[in-house]
Amino acid sequence: MKPLKTLLLLLALSFPTLAESWELLEPEMPVVGRSGESVLFRLKGPQAHQPFLKLSGETVTHRLVEVSPGNYQTALSVPQDTKRSLFLVDAGTGLRRRLGTLQASSHCGQLRVTSEMVTRQGPHPDYDRLTPLYPGQHVALDGIRGGWYRLRASQTWVDGRKSPLSETDMAAFLPPNRLKRIRVEQAPNGDALLKLEMTRSPEIQAIQTGQALQFHLYDTLQTNFDIRRPSGVATFLGPILLRPCAQPQGVIVEINEGIKYGYQIIPELETGELTLRLRKPLPASLEGLKITVDAGHGGLEDRGTVGHLGLEEKVLNLRVAEALAEKLRQLGAEVTMTRLTDKAVLPESAGAGDELQSRIDHSIKRGSQLFLSVHHNARPSVEQGKIYHGTDIYWYQPHSQSLARHLADPIADAIGEESRSFRWRSFYVIRQTHSPAVLMEFQYLSNPVLEKSVLSQPDYPEKASSGVVEGLRNYLEAQASER
Ligand SMILES: [Zn+2]
Repeated sequence: MKPLKTLLLLLALSFPTLAESWELLEPEMPVVGRSGESVLFRLKGPQAHQPFLKLSGETVTHRLVEVSPGNYQTALSVPQDTKRSLFLVDAGTGLRRRLGTLQASSHCGQLRVTSEMVTRQGPHPDYDRLTPLYPGQHVALDGIRGGWYRLRASQTWVDGRKSPLSETDMAAFLPPNRLKRIRVEQAPNGDALLKLEMTRSPEIQAIQTGQALQFHLYDTLQTNFDIRRPSGVATFLGPILLRPCAQPQGVIVEINEGIKYGYQIIPELETGELTLRLRKPLPASLEGLKITVDAGHGGLEDRGTVGHLGLEEKVLNLRVAEALAEKLRQLGAEVTMTRLTDKAVLPESAGAGDELQSRIDHSIKRGSQLFLSVHHNARPSVEQGKIYHGTDIYWYQPHSQSLARHLADPIADAIGEESRSFRWRSFYVIRQTHSPAVLMEFQYLSNPVLEKSVLSQPDYPEKASSGVVEGLRNYLEAQASER
């Protein structure tokens, strides 16, 4: 056989398998970014090869370094000018594959938010969630990774596939927003309302540190310092500070005291006005307190954890939630439950996210001041789950930490459990609520010894809920004494 034919035959035989054996792990393509921005490329492929990346129109190549067997990476800068194709080349095998395009975001696109969107620290669902975007907001973009969009101001990411952009949107120029005035009002229920008069709803992030709550309004210019605060209104609010922020450009609205009870960001689609609702302080006792009790899971599709002896979490959660609601009502609290029967809150056809959101909406609609979600625990590993035990109370928003701390001990004591904790964790129902919220894992249902003994005793729901009541009382007293 002639050498050329041999080569062609070899290529034909080896090309398809080699092409399939390389996988681009990161980033999603196409990539749009600030020119000069460094982008990390990670690929998986055959071991001990010497592949490189190459941009069309460039002679420079970028060698991929094998950081562990079969895992390669290198960083590339976004070119300054036109859109370029990016190729993966493996000289050893003759492989050359187009991965996608790289382009500078010379002008920023914009996104008009049409439904609540979660922002994340990076362009992948694995990254932590940050303050959601609310319908009506306009945000400027400066980066794309596949279907993910980066917000120019906060440098956070949203999954654009959940709210697709058109090409025109990407080219649109977004003028900065102007904050004209802030009015302080009081809602009929006693919450404080900060009405921000502005040209449009901007991208906003809420950041809570200790006693202070900051709202960062990005891409916003402040035209004056006018805060209208009629006397006698919203007295629980401490001083409100307004200050410009340079990097990224915007305005920070900071509230310094009395913001421990939750907040809500409400944009007005028509007027561009933005309302920040700050929940009023809690009473010193349970009398008149509005509480949502959420029995976790429910229905045929979502049974939660199922014990080795067949006890279902959804059933046990509802038993405890019912006992808790009853006890709280006897003490004068206004209790509402997200579900009263073994049913999901929404029809079974709804997605898990919608189901959880509907539980939160339930709580918001009724003006609940506390959100308590009842659950029982398990471990991802079956073997571990059989021996684990303990009471874990989860919080997410800083204003929920104290509630979790006050609940952990009384609940564990009430059900005779030695191990107890209160810890931070990102669960949907405690992340999106607008009041102090906890997710209570009373005990491990995956542990058959506990399932047979403690959890199956007729007086267990009563005991467990008496622990919650004691914890709530301690929490309310502690809040009141700090004021
Ligand atoms: Zn659960």
